[in-house]
Amino acid sequence: TYVIAQPCVDVKDRACVDECPVDCIHEGERTLYIDPDGCVDCHACEPVCPVEAVFHEDDLPRQWAHYRSVNAEFFELA
Ligand code: SF4
Repeated sequence: TYVIAQPCVDVKDRACVDECPVDCIHEGERTLYIDPDGCVDCHACEPVCPVEAVFHEDDLPRQWAHYRSVNAEFFELA
C-alpha cells in the first residue's frame, strides 16, 4: 500500500485524490490519508504530490515509518 507522510500536514494539495482510481485517499483535519484496505498499488498518486509526501510503504523514509500506522488508524477509528 501507499502511505501519506508528514509533508502533507497542513498542505493537503489533493492532486493525489483526483488521480486515485479507487477513491481510497480521504481527507482528515490536517492531512490526507490512504486507506490501506483500498489501495491497489497503482502508483498514480506518488508522482503528482507537489510536496513528495506519498511513498510506497516499503520506501518510507525511516523518520516517517510510523505513518504506515497513522494512515491505517485513521480508517480503523472512522
Ligand atoms: Fe490510490 Fe493508486 Fe495511490 Fe493506492 S497507489 S492510494 S490506489 S492512487
